Amino acid sequence: MAPHSLQIEEPEEPPSSSHLTICPPSPSSVISVCFAAPSGAKAFRNRFFPTASAAQWNDWCWQLRNRITSSKELEKIINLTDSEQQALQRRDATLPFAITPYYASLISPDNPAQAIRRAVVPVVNELVVSAGEAHDPLGEDSHTPVAGLVHRYPDRALFLVTDYCSTYCRYCTRSRMVGRARNTTSTKERWHKAFAYIEAHPEIRDVLLSGGDPLTLPDETLEYLLKRLRAIEHVELIRIGTKTPAVLPQRITPQLTRLLKRYHPLWISIHAMHPDEQTPEMKKACARLADAGIPLGSQTVLLAGINDDVATMKTLMQGLVRLRVKPYYLYQCDPIIGSAHFRTTVDKGLEIYQGLRGHTTGYAVPTYVIDAPGGGGKIPLLPQTCLGRDGNDVLLRNYEGNIYRYPDPL
Ligand code: SF4
Repeated sequence: MAPHSLQIEEPEEPPSSSHLTICPPSPSSVISVCFAAPSGAKAFRNRFFPTASAAQWNDWCWQLRNRITSSKELEKIINLTDSEQQALQRRDATLPFAITPYYASLISPDNPAQAIRRAVVPVVNELVVSAGEAHDPLGEDSHTPVAGLVHRYPDRALFLVTDYCSTYCRYCTRSRMVGRARNTTSTKERWHKAFAYIEAHPEIRDVLLSGGDPLTLPDETLEYLLKRLRAIEHVELIRIGTKTPAVLPQRITPQLTRLLKRYHPLWISIHAMHPDEQTPEMKKACARLADAGIPLGSQTVLLAGINDDVATMKTLMQGLVRLRVKPYYLYQCDPIIGSAHFRTTVDKGLEIYQGLRGHTTGYAVPTYVIDAPGGGGKIPLLPQTCLGRDGNDVLLRNYEGNIYRYPDPL
């Protein structure tokens, strides 16, 4: 698989090279990271990529160049079901298909119900449109003053800096736009217009870089982006939303963390789906980010049959806390096209929240939210804990279901 070829020429503030490329262009940019090679990944590499050295496997650009992007490649690795086979061959799928070799090494070859497999291998259900589903359920397009910049909340903006991901999640909220063909001119112009918009809006104090996955950009491109944003005085906080530590942990190099820490305050939200992702490689990646002083949060989508039970969710959240990642949001799955097989009921989400709150460390409990269809923003959901009043007392229900009174004179 050819790496990205997007190039963005930035005449105003060029980085050391005059081109910004998606994947480091020269061998000098290729970083080999000393991850301990877990036996599973090593066995997988020996079997399916026998000519790749350990250094190549641990090089994030090699991982991108060797992504699995077709049923032909995937069927060498796993036993595809009819449904998976059909979905991979259909050209009308809304979302592209790609998996890094590293993440593919975590997929069960024989169990189509395995969480990681379900999250990244398409099935025919995703081609079925159900009631209430939409391409842009969050109404982001209607809050987009310039292409690639969503300004929905008063003091923050969402900057979609790339449409590329190393691995595509089948439940992606932005399935309408990720992995699409791009052209150089439009990306360049888009970035400049976004910078100009942010500069012209002093109320924007927080910019969230997302996409696509911003950490698939090479160091020099990221540096340009961060430097450009830091030059805008009213931008206090920069955040990056990414799934890279889970699907491409090789990308979190010491060079990258040194770069990121130059742009503090910079926070990172890691898309975390299931405890099986928390491999030694992901742990190492999170440790590097945390050691660089980057506050880490997580975002998790509640997914039917994948993480929609208390035990799995508790293991996931407790594992994240051990990795120094604060569970931030648990999202009800957005009703994108073809998502019915991933969506749970809201009652199920509340049940899971209730199974966490009070039953484990408060830091391990994310805020459960629905991102309101139509652009209403994130709305938190809580099980009913305040039961009303009895005279001068407020009646409260605790995590065990017991009722308590708090004196609160009228
Ligand atoms: S990493 Fe994020 S943007 Fe990319 S496919 Fe997954 S959910 Fe979508």
